Amino acid sequence: MKAKQNILHLPVYQPGKPIEDVKRELGLDEVIKLASNENPIGYSPLAKEAMLKELDLLSLYPDGASVELTDVLAKKLNVNASQIIFGTGSSDIILMIARAFLVPGDETIMADETFGQYKHNCEVENAKIIEVPLIDGVHDLDGMLAAITEKTKVLWICNPNNPTGTILTQSQLIPFLDRVPAHVLVVLDEAYCEYVSEADFPDGVSLLDEYENLVVLRTFSKVYGLAANRIGYGVGRAEVVKLINQVREPFNTGRLAQVAAKASLLDDEFLVRSRTQNQAGLDYYHEQFARLGLSYFKGYGNFVMVDVKQPSMDIFQRMLRKGIIVRAGWKKYPTSIRVSVGTPDENKKFIVALEQVLKELAVQN
Ligand SMILES: *Cc1c(COP(=O)(O)O)cnc(C)c1O
Repeated sequence: MKAKQNILHLPVYQPGKPIEDVKRELGLDEVIKLASNENPIGYSPLAKEAMLKELDLLSLYPDGASVELTDVLAKKLNVNASQIIFGTGSSDIILMIARAFLVPGDETIMADETFGQYKHNCEVENAKIIEVPLIDGVHDLDGMLAAITEKTKVLWICNPNNPTGTILTQSQLIPFLDRVPAHVLVVLDEAYCEYVSEADFPDGVSLLDEYENLVVLRTFSKVYGLAANRIGYGVGRAEVVKLINQVREPFNTGRLAQVAAKASLLDDEFLVRSRTQNQAGLDYYHEQFARLGLSYFKGYGNFVMVDVKQPSMDIFQRMLRKGIIVRAGWKKYPTSIRVSVGTPDENKKFIVALEQVLKELAVQN
């Protein structure tokens, strides 16, 4: 028995710690999870209604092609149905792109740090990973262009970027796309785009007419609050989407996911409510970090990365003991943590706990 050599060193994905585990391990009654950028409001009541109606049909396979959902989304995005592909979360689309495009030795370019699933899936295909360091938490587009060779197949852009929360504007992205050669597929991951209110923030889907080598990824896990349902999508030129579809598992989205996603697309009220609460949370975090004298990357998604000036895993553990789960442990940002925007009450409790932790450490040192 011998697995592929190039997967032997791969770590198993470490998710944000589940609330139930932390409660049990530390004997805490209240635990707040601000580690996975989930929607603190939950998800649309219309989605719940749609799922309840679907429950009696779970013995039947879902529509593998998600026809009804595709039609609703195509109308909303003003694209053709043949330009859309659904996945078991947009992570699944990342996997499919790597699988469809990369053979061993192909080159692929991504930021360092960015969403870990790009690197992971490209490593599974034994591609050569070229990581271009962020500059002040932002993609170095010139550096990424300079890294392109004849062998480059796929280039990954995360906008807003996870974990830094920074954005590329339209005026930065367009000249970059103009210069990327046609043999390179650009994957623009917009998992958090619905949260961004900046006027100059690009809408990847509207760029598809202009750029044949572009694929845009989005998800129902973040602003739509359906993380447990595992559904996300890719949009691109029909020819590109067809290639991705050729490696798709036949039933990669379930019935509940499909009907919930479809209903969510029609609930603007929920979207507005989520965005409004999120923006207030971002403003609060920024203000509080400034008050505490901590530098941070201004967040545009539903999370903020802040430099706590101490080894981040130590802060992570100390916060955990106070019942607050954050995210930490980035190679390039060894003293930073990433915190999701929660409810106003959760955000406040996070700040109180962080301030206590920093005080404890200041006394010790
Ligand atoms: C959360 C996230 C995703 C997708 O998550 P799924 O739940 O698989 O849809 C994709 N990209 C980024 C940058 C994310 O943060």
